[in-house]
Amino acid sequence: HVRHTRVADLSSDFDTSHPTEVRKYLRTYGLTPPAVESFQTQAERCLKLLSLKPTPIDKFQYLTHLKATNVHLFYRLLAENIKELTPLIYTPTVGEACQKWSEIYTQPEGMYLSFDDKGHLHSVIQNWPKHNVEITVVTDGSRILGLGDLGINGMGIPVGKLSLYTACAGIRPDATLPLTLDLGTSNEQLRNDPLYMGSRRPKVSAQEEQEFLDEMMAALTERWPGIVIQFEDFKNPFPALERYRDHYTCFNDDIQGTGAVILGGFINAVKRTGVAAKDQRAVFLGAGSAGVGVAKQIVEFFMREGLTEDQARKCFWLVDSKGLVTNDRGDKLADHKIYFSRDDNDGKQIKSLADVVEYVKPTILMGLSTIGGAFTPEILTRMSELNAHPVIFPLSNPSSQSECTFADAMKYTKSTCLFASGSPFPDYEGQTPGQGNNMYVFPGIGLGTILSKAVNVTQEMIYASAELLSTSLTPEEHAKGWLYPDIARIRDVSVTVARGVIRAAQASSVDRELALRNLSDEQLDEYIRERMYDPKLEKLLVEEELLHLVKSMQG
Ligand code: NAP
Ligand code: MN
Repeated sequence: HVRHTRVADLSSDFDTSHPTEVRKYLRTYGLTPPAVESFQTQAERCLKLLSLKPTPIDKFQYLTHLKATNVHLFYRLLAENIKELTPLIYTPTVGEACQKWSEIYTQPEGMYLSFDDKGHLHSVIQNWPKHNVEITVVTDGSRILGLGDLGINGMGIPVGKLSLYTACAGIRPDATLPLTLDLGTSNEQLRNDPLYMGSRRPKVSAQEEQEFLDEMMAALTERWPGIVIQFEDFKNPFPALERYRDHYTCFNDDIQGTGAVILGGFINAVKRTGVAAKDQRAVFLGAGSAGVGVAKQIVEFFMREGLTEDQARKCFWLVDSKGLVTNDRGDKLADHKIYFSRDDNDGKQIKSLADVVEYVKPTILMGLSTIGGAFTPEILTRMSELNAHPVIFPLSNPSSQSECTFADAMKYTKSTCLFASGSPFPDYEGQTPGQGNNMYVFPGIGLGTILSKAVNVTQEMIYASAELLSTSLTPEEHAKGWLYPDIARIRDVSVTVARGVIRAAQASSVDRELALRNLSDEQLDEYIRERMYDPKLEKLLVEEELLHLVKSMQG
């Protein structure tokens, strides 16, 4: 029989909301219970089932199953319960799911490319069944969240992240490609695990990785010209970003997305301190990919506030596991640390964070070190003595690795601090903490890039995502002192962010959807909204199309 054309492979034939005529047409009549259900009833059952699952992993598996069997229902449930469900499909639960991937694996949800396939990636990629892919998230599993090298078990990350692209920015589910590279793993325990489903080779060399990535980038773009390629959770993400950013439509969320989302909240925090950019002094605990990425974005903000690049750069003091990062420390600094390395320390080598705080007298304290509790009560108290409104951003994940809790930050600064964390914290005395969740920006970056058909994801586009995020708060949210908007409004926020990204693409002339240049901001928002996948609408359209087919058959 003739199948409907819209999203035949996406809508479940066994959806309990299909009307009787549709069931007859699909020949599923009698194969599902008789009741024709509303979304509300379906959602009620799903949420009830979810609450009965004893562990987060059980809930994760249930949601995975729901997505595989009724994609529109899954996304509508997710979009309408974003705050409650995100922790179950992404962090923190996805971390545990990746650790157990080989044990809980039931079905393919993305594509695996192996080092053994080198030379043939082009033909392997042809096997992906969808023709209209617009975006991929790719990992080699070598640094999954804070959990180390998990090899191909890292697949949970591309899968989960792309679900968020769909839920938060309305990128069509069938236009997403979760991609995991099997380049071996340095995790010996995994290599010896009989259930592990990747190759048992040690991690390939950097040179081999580069050759593999070169081939992969070309093959992806050949099959889907203009595809947005988002890199995620690579142990050393810098070389690929540098190598491909000017030649492909790609970005790295760990570096650029993180930088942008922190910057978005940071812009609001700095504005509230009332301290001019030139008088800001930022101490960063942690000088890894996230720390340096965040610091670089802030440099750009300070420059837009009127500082020269050199003045801006000098507002930062980075601290790593060996102490304050200086030129004369006596070790060979990793390349990415050199930009911020200090040369004005008069030979002093300062090891502890408390001593660095005393030495720098910072206005801003950022944590990207994965060292839980590193912002001690003494350090927090000192920050509040030094500043009317200290900016305190403990950004390490998960909560147990956060440099301090929201409660401690508030308690020891007498509620004067401007706070955002990487992981969620409960309210404290009626105040809600800001959470610098990448979800605020990456979906909008992806959507804006896709819609503008940008050839590259430029630094201006990333910056714009942060700036527009900072403007996306409602007057009520501002009045409550929030640094970030309510996550429940994420689809609205993504529209604003996407608009900023599109405008920036236009300003740097990398856009190819030139007609968008002529739209006003209001028209552009409208244009974006109309193109967002809306599971509720999609469901109706599928139904309408089916009923239409039923009628035409009858006629
Ligand atoms: P990373 O590359 O491993 O960097 C960690 C940094 O912390 C390194 O510079 C390391 O020093 C330093 N460090 C380790 N132990 C230390 C100690 N005892 N004292 C001082 N510094 C120490 O990790 P990353 O990718 O940058 O991520 C860092 C954290 O940021 C993670 O917890 C991650 O979850 C979080 N993060 C947050 C967001 C967000 O909030 N949106 C996004 C991404 C990442 P060495 O360089 O000397 O090793
Ligand atoms: Mn990541």
